Amino acid sequence: MSKVGPVTVDMADYLGVNKYAVDEGNPHIELAVDPGREEFLKLVRVCPAALYKIDAAGNQTFDFAGCLECGTCRIAAGGTVVIEWHFPGPTMGVQYRYG
Ligand code: SF4
Repeated sequence: MSKVGPVTVDMADYLGVNKYAVDEGNPHIELAVDPGREEFLKLVRVCPAALYKIDAAGNQTFDFAGCLECGTCRIAAGGTVVIEWHFPGPTMGVQYRYG
């Protein structure tokens, strides 16, 4: 009798399968200039693509280039940290690939 164990999923591998057409000059998400640490930390925790980061020196960074367009950050911090959120223009943004 064969035993089926737990399956380990590497999210980076899955996310790396997607394609992204990044609209460099027209970010679809804009953040407040100096967002508070607690609100920003909330986004570090909820973004499934891990695009909100706080480094060892405490610097808060965000890169919209790998955005999955899920809208979670807008729900979590719209009007505080996230001051603008819209879908990227036609032909831009994430193109999901499964496999
Ligand atoms: S829309 Fe989703 S994937 Fe994109 S930055 Fe916000 S939480 Fe992250």
